[in-house]
Amino acid sequence: MTTAGTTEAVRRHVAGLTPEQLPAYVYDLPALRAHAAAVRAALPERVELYYAAKANPETPLLTALRDAVDGYEVSSGGELAHVRAAVPDAPLAFGGPGKTPAEIAAAVDAGVHRWHVESEQELHRLAAVLADRPEAVVDVLLRVNLPVRAGTLDSVALAMGGRPTPFGLDPDRAEAAARLLTEPVGPLRAVRGRLRLRGVHAHLASGLAAAEQLALAGQIVGWSVRLAERHAFALDEVNVGGGMAVDYADPAARFDWTAFGEGLAKLLERRPGLTLRIEPGRALTGYCGWYATEVLDVKRSHGEDFAVVRGGTHHLRTPTTRGHSQPFTTLPVADWPHPWARPAVTGGRATLTGQLCTPKDVLAHAAPAAAGLRAGDRVLFGMAGAYAFNISHHDFLMHPRPGFHYLEGTESG
Ligand SMILES: *Cc1c(COP(=O)(O)O)cnc(C)c1O
Repeated sequence: MTTAGTTEAVRRHVAGLTPEQLPAYVYDLPALRAHAAAVRAALPERVELYYAAKANPETPLLTALRDAVDGYEVSSGGELAHVRAAVPDAPLAFGGPGKTPAEIAAAVDAGVHRWHVESEQELHRLAAVLADRPEAVVDVLLRVNLPVRAGTLDSVALAMGGRPTPFGLDPDRAEAAARLLTEPVGPLRAVRGRLRLRGVHAHLASGLAAAEQLALAGQIVGWSVRLAERHAFALDEVNVGGGMAVDYADPAARFDWTAFGEGLAKLLERRPGLTLRIEPGRALTGYCGWYATEVLDVKRSHGEDFAVVRGGTHHLRTPTTRGHSQPFTTLPVADWPHPWARPAVTGGRATLTGQLCTPKDVLAHAAPAAAGLRAGDRVLFGMAGAYAFNISHHDFLMHPRPGFHYLEGTESG
């Protein structure tokens, strides 16, 4: 049985909402701060922690993370402007394939801390923007799509590298890009010294356990050291990406940050002068958000129970995109003010669906935790703090948007 752990503050808050205030996203910001601080504490000094804003860019989350993170990774002009406004002093790393000329100019003007170059053409576009701005300096990391040793990525949910993808530079193209950046003559000579090669970035997969992440980090660093030797540049830093595993089937199982931090420390021991950077998204904010709603109806269809909740996958698309059942906790509501019989789950399991007129609107499939669930009861879907509302198709069927509630320290129990 999968249930989502809830905090006392979240349960109390949801119990106090009216049905019309549901569905609602409820975030426990003190829990987020504590989690991020623990992650930071597990990492050695020479590892910088960036938060990948695309996981959840809501301003209260960005500001809650500020003390624990060294910076933020943004992957579009929109994220760049938004994160800059939310946390103005924070260093930004700018990545993403398909940067437009306008985005490139805006990022140069914003003075981003690190640039993740995805192609040779991007270097030329960047150089053209720099040519018009004689004062501007840009520090770049080459984003590489490395072949990874067989077995390293076997268990992952989502692979961005080690196979054909639109992300980053293949090793031979990375060589060409390194040449462009380091050769004393050549097409980029007009901006020589202002387009500085600082190292390598690789974000190859999502859903890796600590041992797999460490194996991958070792391979990325080893490859980067050899690239720097071939092109005689100082390898200042390597960003080994995000993708730390989050297990939706077992919310209590957490990525082993302690083992990861120890492994990275070992990796750094052999490389004095090197700074490592990581940029997790899901593993930082995934646990701090809940999608709270109520059961509108319960019915039996051809031998199976269905509980229809307010809202659905147009607010919480995560279970559809990943093909899982979103973990949830129920909050029984004793009061039933109506004269008719209260619909309830009578079998041992129920499928929790939303209000959309499509059979794909399933939040949890045949969940044993739903036994006894009644119309009017509340349901809190957990692990809804990352890739949840922001990846959902809100306008499909024109249902209202959910509320957003950010719990602060004073409400924590
Ligand atoms: C999405 C993304 C991340 C974050 O991935 P998570 O799986 O959320 O940790 C980090 N870096 C890049 C380049 C990304 O595209």
